[in-house]
Amino acid sequence: MRECDIKTPAYVCEEAKLRQNLELLKRVKDESGAKIFIALKGFAFSGAMGLVSQYLDGATSSGLYEAKFAKQYVKGEICTYSPAFKDDEIDEILSLSNHVIFNSHTQWAKFRDKALKMGVECGLRLNPESSASPTDAYNPCGEFSRLGITLENLDPNELKGISGLHFHALCEESASSLERVLGEFERKFGKFIKGMKWVNFGGGHHITRAGYDVDLLIKLIKNFRQKYGVSVILEPGEAVGWQTGYLVASVLDIVKNGKNIAILDVSAEAHMPDTVLMPYRPAVRGERESGAFCYRFGGHTCLAGDIVGLSAGLPDYYFDEPLKVGDRIIFEDQIHYTIVKNTTFNGVKLPDLVYLDQNGNAKTIRNFGYEEYERRN
Ligand SMILES: *Cc1c(COP(=O)(O)O)cnc(C)c1O
Repeated sequence: MRECDIKTPAYVCEEAKLRQNLELLKRVKDESGAKIFIALKGFAFSGAMGLVSQYLDGATSSGLYEAKFAKQYVKGEICTYSPAFKDDEIDEILSLSNHVIFNSHTQWAKFRDKALKMGVECGLRLNPESSASPTDAYNPCGEFSRLGITLENLDPNELKGISGLHFHALCEESASSLERVLGEFERKFGKFIKGMKWVNFGGGHHITRAGYDVDLLIKLIKNFRQKYGVSVILEPGEAVGWQTGYLVASVLDIVKNGKNIAILDVSAEAHMPDTVLMPYRPAVRGERESGAFCYRFGGHTCLAGDIVGLSAGLPDYYFDEPLKVGDRIIFEDQIHYTIVKNTTFNGVKLPDLVYLDQNGNAKTIRNFGYEEYERRN
């Protein structure tokens, strides 16, 4: 199928852009000696995992289902971390995973014997209590965080059998943010690193964003590896899926009420949830900074606030030409943290998943219909 024939609504993952990200991540691996696992939490497009597997070392999963998905679609190692594992899932998680990371001493004590008997490399998530995350919802090191063990709560006598340490403290962060957090991590936990096999620096490294200081990242990793004699793992999600595709919608109607409001066959609430939660305003292909024709984009749900960019306070989009019913609207950078988070709220159709290869051939990977809504309600 040609790109212009893709039926809306659809998330379209663009191979050429994904490959660029993966090339850069491969450079980080090659020059720093780190391993890189894709964090499925942010990007789990099944149709892209073959390509991802050609470049990265495996996948990080947040529990049983992501670990199963990793086994099915991603080549390489599987690392599983969860804030708390369940008794009826841990056996399968251990059998699927090369690394399992525990969030507390109680979880470690509970599953320790089982995990070691199965030969799984076990790690502990530590909380360096230092982060530069933009909002509280995305700060894993904020006050009263449940994620990771703080220095005060770490029992140095309970590290026998532990192969690695883990922290995840960043969100869309620069290499200098990592440098700061790493300094704090070493100050607090440096004495426990010797004798470990690996230290996992988590995700949130915005490596593929323009202007990211890749050389500093490489330097930090190399220094760390040399200083402690451990291997280093990164587990980015967003950096893999960053600007690798779009959500395409159709204009269903245009209504007026003080402004022109285009009603689309996608929903900010259901299909672009981070634009509401984070919040941010997604770019639209062909929009202008200002222009003769101004529109708001509303979803076809009945939620009044289902307006694209409203939560970010920037709901107006400008164009040189008027829009008309049937026009296609392309929301850029809607691949990471969208497909993995979307819902069938209000009974709206889930957008199909399309893979656009580098020769311009579009292939539908997943097609969603009524059964998705019916099954869940
Ligand atoms: C979310 C998460 C990641 C991935 O974070 P990105 O911001 O998508 O890079 C990695 N590790 C852990 C433990 C996470 O919770």
